[in-house]
Amino acid sequence: MSFNQKSTITYTVWNLDVWGHGPDECEDSLGCPCMADDPDHEGQRIHDPDAHECDAGYDVNDRCRVGTVEVQTDETVNYTHPTASVGWYPSDGAIVRALIDAGYLKDACTASDVDIDGESDGLLMLDESQDGRPLFQLEYKSETAVDVQHAVTVSP
Ligand SMILES: [Zn+2]
Ligand SMILES: [Zn+2]
Repeated sequence: MSFNQKSTITYTVWNLDVWGHGPDECEDSLGCPCMADDPDHEGQRIHDPDAHECDAGYDVNDRCRVGTVEVQTDETVNYTHPTASVGWYPSDGAIVRALIDAGYLKDACTASDVDIDGESDGLLMLDESQDGRPLFQLEYKSETAVDVQHAVTVSP
């Protein structure tokens, strides 16, 4: 016999205090070594990361707990051994949707706007995919199995 099972994973949402800047924001006033004179426009400065290594990057200085979010696992997992441990993994799309529903991300966000790294049963790190700015951390809190269905299976 096998079961089709889904689960709802509750994560603690950590808001991040981020230091640093992205390559779009490099400026002389920030002391960036990657700024250079614009050869085409006298007196103007341009971002020239080819000439001098770009210092752009982000650090998480601090974080604070702002709430929780419930993420549904998308896929139905089939397993045949009732005592086997089964991991349910939320898709990136399900995580982004849950964060939009809870008001943490803008409606227009899609899974391709967010890089998600880490363990879905531990700590997940969410960065803006465009420039790597850290957005949130999600910390696994609890998991509830839902939608248990006894599936008809043909076993040998
Ligand atoms: Zn810079
Ligand atoms: Zn730069």
